Amino acid sequence: MIEEKKSLNFLEQIIEEDLANGLSKEKLRFRFPPEPNGYLHIGHAASICLNFGLGLKYNAPVNLRFDDTNPAKEEQEYVDSIKHDVSWLGFKWDQERYSSDYFQQLYDWTLELIKEGKAYVDNQTSEEMAIQKGTPTETGTNSPNRDRTVDENLDLFLKMKNGEFEEGSHVLRAKIDMKHVNMHMRDPIMYRILKKHHHRTGSDWCIYPMYDWTHGESDYIEQISHSICTLEFKSHRDLYDWYVEQVYDSTNLRPKQREFARRNLSYTVMSKRKLLQLVEEGVVNGWDDPRMPTISGLRRRGYTPQSIRNFSDTAGISKRDNITDVALLEHCIKDDLNKTAPRVMAVLNPVKVVITNYPEDKEEWLTAENNQEDENAGFRKVPFSREIYIEKEDFREEANKKFFRLKLGKEVRLKNAYIIKAESCVKDEKGAITEIYCTYDEDSRSGSGTEASKRKVKGTLHWVSIKHAEKAEVRVYDRLFTDEAPDGHKEKDFKEFINPDSLTVMNAFVEPSLKSAQNLDRFQFQRLGYFCVDKDATKNRLVFNRTVPLRDSWAKIEK
Ligand code: ATP
Ligand code: MG
Repeated sequence: MIEEKKSLNFLEQIIEEDLANGLSKEKLRFRFPPEPNGYLHIGHAASICLNFGLGLKYNAPVNLRFDDTNPAKEEQEYVDSIKHDVSWLGFKWDQERYSSDYFQQLYDWTLELIKEGKAYVDNQTSEEMAIQKGTPTETGTNSPNRDRTVDENLDLFLKMKNGEFEEGSHVLRAKIDMKHVNMHMRDPIMYRILKKHHHRTGSDWCIYPMYDWTHGESDYIEQISHSICTLEFKSHRDLYDWYVEQVYDSTNLRPKQREFARRNLSYTVMSKRKLLQLVEEGVVNGWDDPRMPTISGLRRRGYTPQSIRNFSDTAGISKRDNITDVALLEHCIKDDLNKTAPRVMAVLNPVKVVITNYPEDKEEWLTAENNQEDENAGFRKVPFSREIYIEKEDFREEANKKFFRLKLGKEVRLKNAYIIKAESCVKDEKGAITEIYCTYDEDSRSGSGTEASKRKVKGTLHWVSIKHAEKAEVRVYDRLFTDEAPDGHKEKDFKEFINPDSLTVMNAFVEPSLKSAQNLDRFQFQRLGYFCVDKDATKNRLVFNRTVPLRDSWAKIEK
């Protein structure tokens, strides 16, 4: 029993306490509330996995609520992408809701508040209001408009609603306390005028409710038991509670806001505003560019839903701001693909090898295991012939003892094939090696059972048969930023840290079994890393993205 308690995170502990204090389990209800003003990123995945994870754990419904109160920035395209991403991650929402569904209800409640003397129209400039707001150490002062009569306020608010005033000229404010220690309680704005087309309500409204007024009431309408948000809203909690209190009826549940730390990831930025900048300025090729920390970018890069869920679970949730090492994310995808990705051979940086004692017209289809980590993965046939490609960096004329690859006079095994020995090589005028001449040991074919096939040689290389190989474009990605926390510098803009070498395009050769690979199919290119088919691939042109290399500088966290 005690052990079980220990493994609960702090939000689960809060829920357990509420249940122990009489909250019925049937009343548990959660929501994920994205604003449709951009694509979801790996930070949102933390919130999605958390909320939907609680839903699964407690068998409670989770709503997907679009927090669409700012028509200037919101679009249907974003709504569609968000739904796609949440589903792709493997979660099912109970109801699809929109804050804009509640505009009328919010308006009706507002009229009640005005009648109770709890809200007033202010037509001062925003600068004047900012000065009156005070500071954390100095109390605020009342607006000269604070004591308008109810009738005046109703009249002015109606005019705001009817579009009789200019944008920015009038706001409706809650009448709370200009001396409150919490600045958010100093007569916060409830409505502003925005004469913008809304992606759902069109031109029905030209006043739009502010986040705080909308969020708590939406939670109340949907009867969300635990409204989980990120830490920057902690100081809004008083206001959240005040707003809910205004409409609360004791036969209903009173939603509770609780906060956890945002997920930050090293070597990237996460704010939608900044990601939008990267897209609009062409630093990347769209929201789903495989270098982006968006869910759609990670998907295109080859990440699996499972790996992202594992990452969220492993990184956990915290009460304090911190940066999660991107190496953990990379570890999670490698771990998943190691179990599931078929192994194939591809040469990214080819040099030609001629096996001089192998007959010119001969070809063999050798048996290769698809995935030694998965006994059901089976086998495939890989063609072998006299001329093959290997990686340039797998050959040296001379090298020290630690170089377990091909060097003159020494042997290596070709994966699934024969042992070869380098005899000589040809160079161009710049000294670059253009061809390597080898001989092979005819009896050494892998799996043939001969003595020679069991012969141990240090080093096994991947290869492809030249006449059978398919050409492929391979996009190799590095981090998009050179700095661990690109937006953590006061003096410098985050874009100063963009890595100019974050994309390298290679003209590779891959084994022919890949010809039929489909968009998003994932593979391990043996000895190189994990790769997936990009959406730019066509019937006649293979394109792969490197998801993650097999080895990297982060090996330490893999133990
Ligand atoms: P951004 O600053 O990236 O635009 P946001 O908070 O404005 O993010 P929303 O669409 O409002 O984005 O967020 C939807 C939900 O996801 C909210 O509950 C928010 O707290 C949560 N969320 C957003 N970013 C993160 C993050 N980095 N880590 C954890 N949760 C996040
Ligand atoms: Mg937001």
